[in-house]
Amino acid sequence: MNVHSGMISLVIPAFNEEENLPTLVHRLMVVMDQYDSYEILIVDDGSSDETRFVLRQLSHQYPVIRYLSFSRNFGHQMALRAGYDNARGEAVICLDADLQHPPELIPALIDKWHEGYEVVYTVRQPDPTLSLYKRTTSRYFYKLLRTVSNLNIEDGAADFRLLDRKVVNTLKEFKENDLFLRGAISWIGYRQCRILYEPAARYAGRSKYSFRKMLKLAAMGITSFSTRPLYLSVLLGFGMSLFALLFGAEALFEYFFTNATVSGWTTLVVLSVLIGGVQFIMIGIIGVYLGKTFVEVKGRPAYIISDTSEIEESVTIW
Ligand code: UDP
Ligand code: MG
Repeated sequence: MNVHSGMISLVIPAFNEEENLPTLVHRLMVVMDQYDSYEILIVDDGSSDETRFVLRQLSHQYPVIRYLSFSRNFGHQMALRAGYDNARGEAVICLDADLQHPPELIPALIDKWHEGYEVVYTVRQPDPTLSLYKRTTSRYFYKLLRTVSNLNIEDGAADFRLLDRKVVNTLKEFKENDLFLRGAISWIGYRQCRILYEPAARYAGRSKYSFRKMLKLAAMGITSFSTRPLYLSVLLGFGMSLFALLFGAEALFEYFFTNATVSGWTTLVVLSVLIGGVQFIMIGIIGVYLGKTFVEVKGRPAYIISDTSEIEESVTIW
């Protein structure tokens, strides 16, 4: 007998995905047909195309579909978070709207959940059709993240995963605004299991992850889970002091035992530029963390919902 028989929630962040949503929803419904109870919760991340209209129609047509619309674009991570906050299922599965995360893999995730795993995450198989650009940026991102934080996140870890209700409730306890979900999930523990998958090509439209958004995600991943960059300044400070000591000894030696002391101009200029540069970098790093503290202290809501299928339902009742 299964220990789990509750509802399963599928959470889908969507930013300008009007062309993908109908196909996605139909493919999901075919896969989910074998389960007693499920819901599809789509989070519209402030789309500027017809996504919201498409969602309204779909949710009228199929009662299993719910949606939330953000008041503006808050980013993929926030959309996922709103999904976790509002999902009602005993298990919550997140997947992208562009069909790169194959819906046909969902039963495999659910089977693992039935076996007793509380986190079933997926890892992208190296995919030769993925652009070299995406592959390299992603590889270096994970490498850097592992080096500076204490997290052990694998290459190609995706936001395509199943979480048990217990884990979702734990995530809801996180009060920080700037939550890097992949890091948080690796950090919280529980019984975790990994599944390999082959990503499909994007069904329609272009990638919504611009280079700027990727950089932002990388910076957030690193600074949310590690204060190691701050220690860098201490290390560099020690290094430079040691260097200064040796250099000072050499200068004294030259002063007392030779008469070539005026020739040091180049060294002085190089040194002052070097120290100035390093200091700017260090002040910058400290500034980034200070900025994060500033944002968190204000305690603003992480995202704002402007429209939902639920509000609409209550409107039609009246
Ligand atoms: N997405 C989002 N907000 C954003 C950017 C992307 O909700 O600001 C969604 C997008 O609609 C998709 C998922 O996040 O469902 C992954 O984005 P995308 O496929 O563009 O990223 P890629 O696969 O190219 O890394
Ligand atoms: Mg994609």
